[in-house]
Amino acid sequence: MYITSDFDSGNIEVVNADSSPVELAIRQDNHSHFYQWFHFRLEGEAGKSYALRIVNAGKAAYPEGWENYRVCASYDRHNWFRIDAGYDGHSLDFSVDLERPAIYLAYFAPFSWERHLDLLAWAQLDERVQLQTLGKTLDGRDMSLLTVGDAAKARHRVWMIARQHPGETMAEWFVEGFLDALLDEANPAARSLLADTVFYVVPNMNPDGSVRGHLRTNAAGANLNREWQEPSMERSPEVYLVREKMLEIGGDIFLDIHGDEALPFNFVAACEGIPGYDERHAKLEDTFKRAFASASADFQTERGYDLDKPGEANMTVGTNWCGHQFRTLALTLEMPFKDNDNLPDPIEGWSPARCRQLAQDIFLPIRETLKSL
Ligand SMILES: [Zn+2]
Repeated sequence: MYITSDFDSGNIEVVNADSSPVELAIRQDNHSHFYQWFHFRLEGEAGKSYALRIVNAGKAAYPEGWENYRVCASYDRHNWFRIDAGYDGHSLDFSVDLERPAIYLAYFAPFSWERHLDLLAWAQLDERVQLQTLGKTLDGRDMSLLTVGDAAKARHRVWMIARQHPGETMAEWFVEGFLDALLDEANPAARSLLADTVFYVVPNMNPDGSVRGHLRTNAAGANLNREWQEPSMERSPEVYLVREKMLEIGGDIFLDIHGDEALPFNFVAACEGIPGYDERHAKLEDTFKRAFASASADFQTERGYDLDKPGEANMTVGTNWCGHQFRTLALTLEMPFKDNDNLPDPIEGWSPARCRQLAQDIFLPIRETLKSL
């Protein structure tokens, strides 16, 4: 048996290969205590079963994320299915019945750096798309912004950013589905939106963390979603560069796409705790949530985070900073690592295909919210 994670977004350390179960540990994010993302390949003898144990699961960033969690697995790196796992408060146990010589195992279906470059490449083929490099990350990767639509003619501006937390790969699967649908000339919802709206899309806010196989931080160990008040080129250039562009352009809706380790639902978190949260904020938020729930049975409004008390929002969080700075609708969209328990899929759980579908269903709430401005 052989285990490796020496590839894009790989993360695992073999603690003891000779034991049964084989003992594994997830590596911490660089300069950080966060960890939970794993991604590795196991090679062995087809037909054999391999018992695996992640021994440091209990000290991961979100231990509750392991409860009822099922591991993502793929033989061909395209089709991902789930494997049952058990969590006893300390370690995560699962076993692989190997059908082929090698299998990939991950916390969620990976969205590779190559796929990210592909996304930028196919999107910019469309004449309605502009591709702009805003600057570089600490590891020297590009921070890319896609602008979709005619900025000169547009009445509305919508921002969508994804993967501030790099291990939340569902966020970039979502953006891929969103752009695919937005640029589909046979899609009437997309065409009507683009008639008067321009979209500013940052498909990957944390390229270095993505490639390094981090859960939550950039190369310097910064949690980018706590950097919005005072980002710097030394510690958080990703936020600094995007924030400067936002200040230059402004916007009517800000969407920040994430995944949640623990909650098995799709939901949004708003900025109700910011100073100056008012009737207008509340009305836009309500309009968006109602329309999203009508558009998709995978979205719900019953379960989510506890609300911030008035004036007690953490202003270093992107959504709160945007909602306050631009006095408009700013939302964090959370998708599950596990599944949507209201509509479970026993084979795949929450999956890239469902991220992509949810992204198409977000056109209606965007439309309804813009209408009410
Ligand atoms: Zn997140």
